[in-house]
Amino acid sequence: QEQPSMQVFEQLESEVRSYCRSFTTVFHKAQNARLWDTNGKEYIDFFAGAGALNYGHNNSGIKQKLIDYLLEDGVTHSLDMATQAKETFLSRFQNLILKPRGLDYKIMFPGPTGTNSVESAMKIARKVTGRTEIISFTNAFHGMSLGSLSATGNQFKRKGAGVYLPYATFMPYDGYFGQSVNTAAYMEKLLDDPGSGVEIPAAVILETVQGEGGLNAASDEWLREIERICRERDIMLIVDDVQMGCGRTGTFFSFEDAGINPDIVCLSKSIGGFGLPMALTLIKPEYDIWNPGEHNGTFRGNNLGFVAASEALDYWVDSDFEPQIARKANMIRRSLEQMLLVHPGVDAEIRGKGLIQGIAFAEPELASELCTEAFKRGIIMETSGPRDEVAKLMPPLTIEQELLERGLRVVREAMNEMME
Ligand code: PMP
Repeated sequence: QEQPSMQVFEQLESEVRSYCRSFTTVFHKAQNARLWDTNGKEYIDFFAGAGALNYGHNNSGIKQKLIDYLLEDGVTHSLDMATQAKETFLSRFQNLILKPRGLDYKIMFPGPTGTNSVESAMKIARKVTGRTEIISFTNAFHGMSLGSLSATGNQFKRKGAGVYLPYATFMPYDGYFGQSVNTAAYMEKLLDDPGSGVEIPAAVILETVQGEGGLNAASDEWLREIERICRERDIMLIVDDVQMGCGRTGTFFSFEDAGINPDIVCLSKSIGGFGLPMALTLIKPEYDIWNPGEHNGTFRGNNLGFVAASEALDYWVDSDFEPQIARKANMIRRSLEQMLLVHPGVDAEIRGKGLIQGIAFAEPELASELCTEAFKRGIIMETSGPRDEVAKLMPPLTIEQELLERGLRVVREAMNEMME
C-alpha cells in the first residue's frame, strides 16, 4: 500500500525545483535530535540543519521565550532601530561570550545568512587595507553569492556563477599534501617572493575545520602560524565560523583551542538559536570604519532571532556544557574507530573534530551508500567533501547521550549491511 507521504514526495518531484533527493520522505515534527515523518516513523538527526540547529529542534526553553515575546506583541522586525530584544542580545553576547574570552569586537548585523557575513568581512578588509586580493584555501566553503563564492574552492559550485570569479588566490590548506608538508611555510614563501605572482592580500579567510570541504581540521600550530604570517604583513585574518562556531567543535568559537585572535569573525547558522536566520560579523573596533549605509540589508534586524539567540547563550553559562560536548565527541570518535576496525579492508580515515566528525572513503560512492543505508534505518546524515567522499555525523550539541549511542549503533549496522 502506498504511503501518503510518498505521494506528496512524488508530487514535489514533479512540481518544484527545490526538493531534497537524499531524504525521500515528508517530515512534520521534530524535537531536539529527533524528527518524525508523516507516517509516524522516527529519525535521529545527525545533520542538525547543516549546523543551524546546535541547540536542537524546538528547544523548549528557547521556544517558550519566543512564544512569550509574541504574546507580548514584541517588535519582530526593526532594521537598525534599537529594540529591547536587540539590546538584550548585544549585552548578553558581550557579557557571556566576548568578555569571558578576553575578546573585543564590534558586533555587526550583515544580513540573515552566513554568506552575508562573509561578504561583509571581505568588503571591510578591502576598505581597511586598500588592497583587493583575498587568500583562501583549497576546499574552502564560504558561500554561494559572488563575493563569497570567489573564496569557495569547489569547482562545481564556482562554475555555477556563470562569470569569472576574480580576487581570490587559493593556498593549500593544512594537510593538503599530507602531514609532511608545512603549507603555512609554503604560503609564507610565496608571499615574500617577488617572483611568485602572489600579492599581499587584504585578508586571509579560513575555516578551522572545513565543514563542506570534507571535514579537514587544521592543527592549532598551523592556525597560529597563519596568524603570525598575517600579523607580520598587516594582512587581516578572517575566521569563517559560520558552521564551526557556536560550539560545533567543542568551544563557542572554533579558534579558542588554538588561542588565535582573528581580526574578523563570521557567525551565522546556530547563532539564531532556533534555526532562525541570523548572522553576525565581529570586527575589531579599530577596523570599524564603515559609514552608515555602506553595508545594509532588509533582514538584519530580525528580533525573533535576537530573542532566540539571547536565550541560547544560557548554555554557555553552564560549566558542564563544553565537557558534555567533549564526551559526546569521544563517543563518536570511538564508534567510528570501531567501524573501521571491524572492516579492515575498507580504505578510509576518520576526520573532523568535536560534534562534526565523519569517515572519508577512498571510494567516494561508499559515503553516499552509507548515508542511504543509514537513512533507511532512520538516521539523517549527509556527505561532504569535493567528491562527496565523507559520510558526516553532525548531531545537535544537545542530543541525549542515549540517543547518540543508539544512532551510532544504527550507523555501524548500516556499514555492516553495506559491506556484506
Ligand atoms: N561559510 C561556511 C563555513 C559555511 O559552512 C556556510 C554554509 N554551509 C556558509 C559560509 C554560507 O552560509 P549560508 O548558507 O547561511 O549563506
